[in-house]
Amino acid sequence: MTTIAFIGLGHMGLPMAKNLLGAEFTLRGFDLSAEAISAVREAGGTAFASVKEVVEDADVVITMLPNAAIVKSVYGGDEGVFKNAKKGALLIDSSTIDVATARGVAEDAATDGFDMVDAPVSGGVGGAEAGTLAFMVGGTKDAFERAKAALEPMAGKIVHCGKSGNGQAAKACNNMLLAISMIGVSEAFNLGRSLGLDDQVFFDVASNASGQCWSLTTYSPAPGTVPTAPSNNDYNPGFATALMLKDLGIAMDAAKSTGANTPLGAMSRDIYTAMDRAGHGGVDFSGVIKHLTGDL
Ligand code: NAD
Repeated sequence: MTTIAFIGLGHMGLPMAKNLLGAEFTLRGFDLSAEAISAVREAGGTAFASVKEVVEDADVVITMLPNAAIVKSVYGGDEGVFKNAKKGALLIDSSTIDVATARGVAEDAATDGFDMVDAPVSGGVGGAEAGTLAFMVGGTKDAFERAKAALEPMAGKIVHCGKSGNGQAAKACNNMLLAISMIGVSEAFNLGRSLGLDDQVFFDVASNASGQCWSLTTYSPAPGTVPTAPSNNDYNPGFATALMLKDLGIAMDAAKSTGANTPLGAMSRDIYTAMDRAGHGGVDFSGVIKHLTGDL
């Protein structure tokens, strides 16, 4: 039986870890929050009091943490993963962080003799609960093949994106595209309304025409057109605007460092920043349809 140490049992990490239990892995968990620790115990895993303790004897270490600084602190230092994990353990970081940090951490892992992949996810809390997340994986072919067995119980799709950091690169590009397309779909509904076009009629046309995209057909910002979308629940997340802004920050920093020209990415960040500053960071990002008309 493979023993997995899971570090970071928050909104995403806990349901992901629960799916591993279902798949009959032995689960060890650590989080700074006492609530998360009790939840992992209740689910049938074993809770530990530190990174150092949880990684001992683990064949695979998975981290699902809020940001790059925390990822670096959990892996590095005397109490961290590199100094305390079993020789030969596979390390998987599923947090969303910047490409440069992901590559730096993977280099440190290699120096200490570990295989490591970055494996950020798309699919949100719903996907984490259902075990249908899309994993975008960066690392060597061998490390990717090793990681697949641990990722499969949590995944709908697992894609090898290339070398270390490329999983984070794919995530940043995907979410920049999502941010832009949601604003595009919202502008189209708002223009249609101003011209007297019914939302459902426009949806029926565009979802079968060249305007078709995920932001329209799966996550429509117009209430009633896609019954499962957050727009039907007063734009409750879903995917909060503040989280979208984190991902856009990563994408825009990457564009700056590489010189890539991403004017719509920059504009979308300005729009979501304005929405956040108006006090709506907790609102689903599809609520931008109301922000654009001054109603939010
Ligand atoms: P969260 O804040 O709910 O969970 C993070 C957990 O990490 C918390 O339980 C926190 O206590 C724990 N933690 C923080 N520092 C720690 C440390 N030093 N040691 C151990 N545990 C520590 O966040 P989340 O929504 O679960 O997101 C986790 C990651 O997944 C983020 O990088 C986020 O960008 C990414 N992500 C989130 C979503 C989403 O919809 N929530 C979707 C895709 C990707």
